[in-house]
Amino acid sequence: MEKNEIYDIAIIGAGPAGLTAGIYAARAGLKCVVTEKAAVGGLASTTSDIENYPGFKHTDGFSLCYTMLEQCKDAGAEFVFENVVSLDTDSSVKKLTLSNGDVLNAKCVIVTTGASPLKTGVRGEEEFRGRGVSYCATCDGAFFKGKTVAVIGGGNTAVVDALYLEKLAGKTILVTRTDKLAADKILVDRLLASKVEIVWNSSVSALSGDDKLSEMVLKDIKNGTLTDVSVDGVFIAIGKTPNSVWLKNVALDERGYIVTDENMRTNIDGVYAAGDVRSKSLRQIVTACADGAIAADSAAKFLMQNK
Ligand SMILES: Cc1cc2nc3c(=O)[nH]c(=O)nc-3n(C[C@H](O)[C@H](O)[C@H](O)COP(=O)(O)OP(=O)(O)OC[C@H]3O[C@@H](n4cnc5c(N)ncnc54)[C@H](O)[C@@H]3O)c2cc1C
Repeated sequence: MEKNEIYDIAIIGAGPAGLTAGIYAARAGLKCVVTEKAAVGGLASTTSDIENYPGFKHTDGFSLCYTMLEQCKDAGAEFVFENVVSLDTDSSVKKLTLSNGDVLNAKCVIVTTGASPLKTGVRGEEEFRGRGVSYCATCDGAFFKGKTVAVIGGGNTAVVDALYLEKLAGKTILVTRTDKLAADKILVDRLLASKVEIVWNSSVSALSGDDKLSEMVLKDIKNGTLTDVSVDGVFIAIGKTPNSVWLKNVALDERGYIVTDENMRTNIDGVYAAGDVRSKSLRQIVTACADGAIAADSAAKFLMQNK
């Protein structure tokens, strides 16, 4: 059913970027709705230890995002808990179709749908997520000071993660499926000159432990040999998928991330993107929040100019 009201701003996704956009939009006196298909807080709410969000020595993602949610609601933003399945930007009033069939109308849209880390799917990956298994070296590396960690993957992210972890961990292992790394030459050269131990032609086939992760099983892809390796942390860096495939007409980069300018404007007037779904170099809570604030401010200025 198409709703009669026309929102000033509709925000798609209630992670840190979307919640911050909601706080700024509602505090600017704009009629704003935030849609969320799963849990408020997005990826950030799945982590129990955050030590790099300024102003908090230590917090957990759920508490941090729940406070953002309260701020957003107190400022006057509305929430709709549905998946947005399509966005029609053909006219000046954009139409968001929800999974329950409802249609929301908004003059501006901010896409804050994030990016999902790819999983290996091996036994133990889900069980030890947050207890040794991580998808973010920048976020969780500091919890493994002096310990043994492994990075799974062979691209730029995996190599950068391994070099980052080498400075913190006692021992860093990089596990790659081939005999060549698919990363930039400068990064490969740095890795080869580092103390990171590279396990070539291998994949992880299981992760295990008691309370915390303590072991990974590596499989030699050429001869099938299985080897048990003691490890405190495993960082999975086999790629991320931006949650943008459902968007039409919005310009994406070659990896599917939304292209914006520094004011978070996309190629479509009145459509903005913020947070991890955007083409950028550092995907963190602090950058997602900053993007969200800028996107809401840009949308507010657009609305003023197009009254
Ligand atoms: C394990 C882990 C630990 C991390 N730890 C840290 C840390 O310590 N410090 C740090 O700064 N960063 C950390 N990060 C990174 C941080 O979580 C992300 O950078 C941040 O959450 C990005 O915010 P976002 O709002 O752009 O996207 P997300 O948090 O991914 O939120 C996107 C939201 O959009 C929703 N959504 C998607 N598609 C739709 C749709 N079609 N309709 C409606 N809703 C939709 C999703 O359900 C989700 O709630 C960590 C990430 C992981 C995976």
